[in-house]
Amino acid sequence: MAKINSNYLLLPNSYLFAEIARKVNAYMQANPKADIIKMGIGDVTMPLTSAVTCAMEKAAKEMGNKETFRGYGPEQGYDFLIDAVIKGEYKSRNIDISHDEIFISDGSKCDVANIQEIFDINSTIAIADPVYPVYLDSNVMAGRSGALNNNGYFEKIIYMPSTKENNFKPSFPSRHADLIYICSPNNPTGAALTKDELKAWVDYALENNSIILYDSAYSAYIQEENVCGSIYEISEACKCAIEFKSFSKTAGFTGIRCAFTVVPKELYAFDDKGNKVELNRLWNRRQTTKFNGVSYVTQRAAEAVYSIEGMKETKEVISYYMDNAKIILDGLKQAGFEAYGGVNAPYIWWKIPNNIKSFDFLDILLNKYQIVGTPGSGFGPSGEGYFRLTAFGNKEKTKEAMQRIIKGGF
Ligand SMILES: *Cc1c(COP(=O)(O)O)cnc(C)c1O
Repeated sequence: MAKINSNYLLLPNSYLFAEIARKVNAYMQANPKADIIKMGIGDVTMPLTSAVTCAMEKAAKEMGNKETFRGYGPEQGYDFLIDAVIKGEYKSRNIDISHDEIFISDGSKCDVANIQEIFDINSTIAIADPVYPVYLDSNVMAGRSGALNNNGYFEKIIYMPSTKENNFKPSFPSRHADLIYICSPNNPTGAALTKDELKAWVDYALENNSIILYDSAYSAYIQEENVCGSIYEISEACKCAIEFKSFSKTAGFTGIRCAFTVVPKELYAFDDKGNKVELNRLWNRRQTTKFNGVSYVTQRAAEAVYSIEGMKETKEVISYYMDNAKIILDGLKQAGFEAYGGVNAPYIWWKIPNNIKSFDFLDILLNKYQIVGTPGSGFGPSGEGYFRLTAFGNKEKTKEAMQRIIKGGF
């Protein structure tokens, strides 16, 4: 008799997004003429830029030609893309990253979910709260979480609450953590660690023998000078941090899939006998066994993001989204609300007034303004009382949404 991995049963049903969709659909059926503005999506809406699609067309033609056809590529990614990443992301920031420290993949979601496999099952895990749910769920599935208690916390996970009191920047873990997941700029709060704050984390990790798993999917959205585009801008971070970056939000690759993970050669953890083992070697082993590379066409598309045209176009798209972020932030404030984020990330973290639960606020917004967003409680217990709006929508619709809120008051 086959038995399941019962850790999966520890995960509560992911009813949140299904429940949001159900409520919106029910509202639409009851009010077929309603002009609903969707501000809940964590996905880009602007198309790929022409530098990217041109590169894809060219690569597709190569694949249809006997002389230039390619089969399996290197699991770690093609040299041309790794070189472009080193130049575009690291040399440009005066960071030395070598070729074999970069692993091209088909998404940061799978990388941040899979990375825990190379660590011991008894590793202690610290996770910001609220945050992108993948870090927690992947550790629950692996069996590191213990049971879920009534307050919504897993017993063995160290939560790092990110609240108004600490400007939504997680404080150091309350006890030793082997692995520390940090997402900056943060999804969902939009908060970004300053260079000094990031340095404090690196110092902490080096002192405490922790490894930082640094998800920087939104680094292209950073507008402020004192926020780092890579954790390796902090000296010695390559001794304590793995960095995850993605083309998804940077260049609209959510549908075509490309990302990369940096595992520095200087980074190691210990085996049972206390010997040092390079994490780079383990991740390489893991990827070459369980992953077979990103398609050639997609990697050519990603390479084009770093071309002069590509960088210019990408910047324009990001400005479009960040203008929306400003419209939302200013609009909510003008309407008398407290709102955060939206400066270095396409997310606005809206404080819900009058102690209304974030899930109930969904109904209020839908009924009163025909606006959809995401209840903060979906990102962790500390997200309760907040609501996430995203800047990925259409500018006119975004303005219209804010007009509704300003006019309607609360
Ligand atoms: C969108 C997002 C990603 C990107 O995931 P992909 O699999 O590369 O599309 C990673 N981390 C966070 C926090 C995100 O919001």
